[in-house]
Amino acid sequence: MGQVNEIDFSKIKMLVMDVDGVMTDGTVIINSDGSEGKNFSIVDGHGIKLWHRVGFQTAIISGRPSKATTVRAEQLNIGCVKQGCKKKLPAFESLLEELSLDYREVAFVGDDLLDLPLVRRAAFGVAVANAVDELKEVADYTTTKAGGSGAVREVIEYILKRNGKWQDLMQRYLV
Ligand SMILES: [Mg+2]
Repeated sequence: MGQVNEIDFSKIKMLVMDVDGVMTDGTVIINSDGSEGKNFSIVDGHGIKLWHRVGFQTAIISGRPSKATTVRAEQLNIGCVKQGCKKKLPAFESLLEELSLDYREVAFVGDDLLDLPLVRRAAFGVAVANAVDELKEVADYTTTKAGGSGAVREVIEYILKRNGKWQDLMQRYLV
């Protein structure tokens, strides 16, 4: 693991996520009509809403195209969705360019080998608990929660508690 202490969390304002194994448990339901289903976490969804509430952005970079991913991204107002990315680094770089962002402003969460270059490149590169060992070895942080079981929420809270935004957000829940 890298040194979390060296990361400037005050700069991070974009959360980029892989989908399968990160926003889900990595399983896909194939229905008899050929349509697909995935299990997304409600606590992750609320975490993403909190992240947006402080004015931060989200994006998805997924290797595998899926209607279920498109629908969930729409529900959560995820601003930028790139699917079918066989190589994720070019997708990541074009995302930064489109949004005029620097890699120092980005946290990325992944679980598999395709995610390696992004975990390396992002200012805060995160592996989920169920990630492959190779990803955990280069990650700045490994979540205690697994993909589809609150890993994304864990990352969001981790960052917001280190940049001073979490206390403000909690005010509305304390009255
Ligand atoms: Mg994955």
